[in-house]
Amino acid sequence: MKHYLLATLLFAYTATATAQDIFKGYINIEDADSTIAVNLMYAKPDNFVGEKMYNFTEAYLHSHAAEALKRASRLLRTTHPHLRLIIYDAARPMHVQQKMWNKVKGTPQQNYVSNPANGGGLHNYGLAVDISIIDNNGDTLPMGTTVDALTPLSHIDKEQELVRKGKISPEAARNRALLRTIMKKAGFRPLRSEWWHFNYTTRANARANYKAIP
Ligand SMILES: [Zn+2]
Repeated sequence: MKHYLLATLLFAYTATATAQDIFKGYINIEDADSTIAVNLMYAKPDNFVGEKMYNFTEAYLHSHAAEALKRASRLLRTTHPHLRLIIYDAARPMHVQQKMWNKVKGTPQQNYVSNPANGGGLHNYGLAVDISIIDNNGDTLPMGTTVDALTPLSHIDKEQELVRKGKISPEAARNRALLRTIMKKAGFRPLRSEWWHFNYTTRANARANYKAIP
C-alpha cells in the first residue's frame, strides 16, 4: 500500500510538474543566449522512439555546460556572422530516461539509450547537448544525416572515407568539422558515433561531482 501510494505520488509529480519545477537550478538556454535556436526532438513524436517523450519544450543545461555553450555560440557568430546554433536535446530528467529505456529495451535501438539502472548518460545531468547549425533563413546546414539518425553515416571517425565513397558530401563533412571545432574550443567533447552529440565532461566526473535530474 505504501509503495502504491509512493508510486502514485511520483506519477502525479512527473505528470504535472512544470519544466521550472523539474529544472530548478538549471539554466534555460533561451534566457542565457537568445541567438541559440531550440527545437527539442523529444517534445514531438517525430523521433527515433516514435513517441512524444517530453512535456516541456525548453532546453535546460547545468550552468557549467550552459557557460560553455554560450562560448560556442559566440565563437560561431564571430567567425560566421550568418550562422547560429540550434539545440535538439539538452537536459533530460531520469524519469524520462526510464520511459525511453522501457520503450527500446530488447530492440536494436537499446544500444543508443543509456540504461538508467547504470546511472544514465550525460543528458541526465544537464551536461550534454544534441546540436547543429542553422543559417540566416533558419535552414539547417547539410550534415550528411538528420540528427539522431542511428547509422554509421553519423559516425565522425571515418568522414573522409564517407566522402570518398559518396555517402556524405564534402560540404557536410566541412559543416561537421566547423561544429566540432567551435564546440571543442568552447570546452565540449565530441562522441564518435553521433556528429550532433557533445558532452561537457566525462561520465565518471559527472557521477562523482554532479547530480542527475530526477
Ligand atoms: Zn545526445
